[in-house]
Amino acid sequence: QATELEALKDLPAETTDGFVMPLWVNTGLVADVARSLDRGAEGIGLYRTEVPFMIREFFPSEQEQADTYRKQIEAFSPRPVTMRTLDIGGDKALPYFPINEENPFLGWRGIRVTLDHPEIFLVQVRAMLKAGEGYDNLRIMLPMVTSVGEVEDASRQIDRAVRELQDEGYAIKRPLVGVMVEVPAAVYQVRRFARRVDFISVGSNDLTQYLLAVDRNNPRVAGLYVSYHPAVLKALQHIAREAHKEDVTVSICGEVASEPGGALLLMAMGYDVLSMNATNLPKVKSAIRSVSKQDADLLLKEVMAMDDADRIQVFINERLEELG
Ligand code: PEP
Ligand code: MG
Repeated sequence: QATELEALKDLPAETTDGFVMPLWVNTGLVADVARSLDRGAEGIGLYRTEVPFMIREFFPSEQEQADTYRKQIEAFSPRPVTMRTLDIGGDKALPYFPINEENPFLGWRGIRVTLDHPEIFLVQVRAMLKAGEGYDNLRIMLPMVTSVGEVEDASRQIDRAVRELQDEGYAIKRPLVGVMVEVPAAVYQVRRFARRVDFISVGSNDLTQYLLAVDRNNPRVAGLYVSYHPAVLKALQHIAREAHKEDVTVSICGEVASEPGGALLLMAMGYDVLSMNATNLPKVKSAIRSVSKQDADLLLKEVMAMDDADRIQVFINERLEELG
């Protein structure tokens, strides 16, 4: 099986009729980088920057952050590296920045925290920009966005960091900036966001939890947390269509992209990039290479006409078996 993985590494995720689907990875630790390149990842669709923050005892300094970020940029260059600004709160806690709330998933998390703490946000963005100096592959992505105002605020801060560093003599330019769609409110504002940013990326893990009102980490309701719920699929399709109306690329970095069935549906919906954990990338690539684009389009059409998540799951599994 090791040789099979090796053989797959340099092959494109190309359907039998020649449609190519870019497969990127989600990273957090430095160790993820080598693993990802080994499996043939073509970019980083989500670098969870809170991971290096979580394994420390204090806030890392600007320079420490820049050094950490540079490892991802350098190793992947010229492939794109999408760095998400700090997404703490909810299920992600920093020991040295306690947030105690009754409803952490509906509380102070992601962009809400960093917009309230411009000093944290600016330092982080400056560190990202410094890390990207001399390369051309940095993209910055904003988590947990609910409103256009948040995009505009964050965008202004990024502009400010760019200007500051240019004044300090750094040879940097404004990177591509994107918004994550992971709150139901964002689903209905994709075009407005798209007019203000360079790309859209769907965080389907949170989006599923918020659409279905099911805590993504609560074992008691884990059976209700289903990616193939018709409402989730409708939302995913809507987001892709809306982003494309504004000619903005749309990617997905939630776990549904790392399931072969999910990947085929997303490809058919028109997603431009699928980003996933490195472990599942070869499996997804195999699935894409074993079908035609037409097969995937038909699968999507059939699934979108179905009413029930469990039946959709069974149906997708059967189809995957048939398609080999
Ligand atoms: C998501 O919500 O789908 C996502 C990719 O972000 P995270 O899992 O880090 O919340
Ligand atoms: Mg999320």
